[in-house]
Amino acid sequence: MLGRDHALGGAVVFAALASSLHVTEANLVAGLVLTAGAGVLPDIDQPPSTTARSFGLLTEWFAWMVARLSGGHRHGTHSLLGIAVFTVGAYGAGLLQLSAPKSLAAGHPGFSWHIVPAALIIALLYSAALRALRIGGHHGDLLGIAGALATCYTGADLTQLTVGSWHVPLLAAATALGCAAHIAGDELTHGGCPLFWPVSMHEFHLLPRPLQITTAKLGETWVVFPLLLVGLAVAMWHATGHPLVLPHPSK
Ligand SMILES: [Zn+2]
Repeated sequence: MLGRDHALGGAVVFAALASSLHVTEANLVAGLVLTAGAGVLPDIDQPPSTTARSFGLLTEWFAWMVARLSGGHRHGTHSLLGIAVFTVGAYGAGLLQLSAPKSLAAGHPGFSWHIVPAALIIALLYSAALRALRIGGHHGDLLGIAGALATCYTGADLTQLTVGSWHVPLLAAATALGCAAHIAGDELTHGGCPLFWPVSMHEFHLLPRPLQITTAKLGETWVVFPLLLVGLAVAMWHATGHPLVLPHPSK
């Protein structure tokens, strides 16, 4: 599936769950863009992919490393273990950021290496989302970095979302949701995903063979892409407090 549709898929999932996760409108945009970025993150196992090209040689080298460690394209990063590793990484970066001197958490300018991993992850996710959605052109990466610094200094990525009885930081929740959406998207295609890698290489699909789509072909362009746009519009309408079903007029 194309990076554009993976990014949109991540954004749709976040918008659809925003009200259940009690996301405030102030955090909605950050959550949407982070999840869109995480929606293309699993393809970092492919050095020519959108995410891998975000910051030139730095991310291309990282992508090469990930591909080596995860057994190549559509293996480790497209499994449940892959989602867990990405999410734990985002969660760990958040914990480190929380341990930064309090003056930073309060939004005062300053520097602490405690925020570096979170800032790097957020910059990568923002830039990957902007690249996949073709927003900002070459300036998209600068926008991603500026957005990451703003997000870190305001601590918006550490905002706790309620998932059942758990409280999960926004960055970790967005990473998990985006990666899961990516894997679901690839499971609509002929390739499928090895969910239980490295224990089993069995590829899981969400559609029967005749309905499986081929990346960048008619099915994706004329069915998946428009459905994602409509889904995003409906989910955003709901996420911003509008009812999906009009109440019956009482007699
Ligand atoms: Zn993929």
